Amino acid sequence: MIAFASGTLGSSEPGADTCLWAATGRAGGLSTGVYESGNLAEYVGDDDWAVAENRRRAVGLVGVGVDCLAVMGSVHGASVGVVSSGGVVAGVDALVSTSKGIALLALAADCVPLVLADARAGVIAAVHCGWRGVGAGVVAAAAATMRELGAVSIEAVVGPAICAGCYPVPAERTEYLRELVPTEVSDVACIDRAGGSFIDVRAGVSVQLALLDIEAIHVKACTNESTDLFSYRRDTVTGRQGMIISRA
Ligand SMILES: [Zn+2]
Repeated sequence: MIAFASGTLGSSEPGADTCLWAATGRAGGLSTGVYESGNLAEYVGDDDWAVAENRRRAVGLVGVGVDCLAVMGSVHGASVGVVSSGGVVAGVDALVSTSKGIALLALAADCVPLVLADARAGVIAAVHCGWRGVGAGVVAAAAATMRELGAVSIEAVVGPAICAGCYPVPAERTEYLRELVPTEVSDVACIDRAGGSFIDVRAGVSVQLALLDIEAIHVKACTNESTDLFSYRRDTVTGRQGMIISRA
């Protein structure tokens, strides 16, 4: 697996606690056809053996074995799973861990995948957030769980996602989202103009992070425009890339 982007969260001072993160894209996996090649999702029709090998390579990017990979069964809600071992957690869109040697994976192909960490406190999270997640408040739910577990100063990396211009929606959807979120969020996330309605999920997540006092860096790429990334909007039957984080 070749990282689309990667880095560390935490202090850059020698010996300080750090967390490794990586964003994956299409490159460097074994899947073929519409899943070529780095698909990390087992539920999209790809070969299980290829997904397993791709996941093994993906966790390698953050220095962890595949047995210690925790994955969420996303449902576009705001439930959070706290994990201390690898495996699948169904029905959640956020995973939080305080365990060393565990990797957390958020999958997406247009929705926003993001990872969070307070490296000093040793608390990490991975979150899957589409427009429904913005409305449900999954980022705030993940941050609240992190703080309950000792996190104080949280940083985030927001992964590749579809841009507003590539994401036209029915006008009812922006109307609905406006009712769910504060004005600061809907002002950037809900776009209604003569040409139609659009949702900027990344911008909504950005403001939600800022309102939580979380500093974020962005892997700036539009999944629908970049052929290096999977996009559900563009291809419908396709793979999923991921944002992955581990606590070193
Ligand atoms: Zn775009």
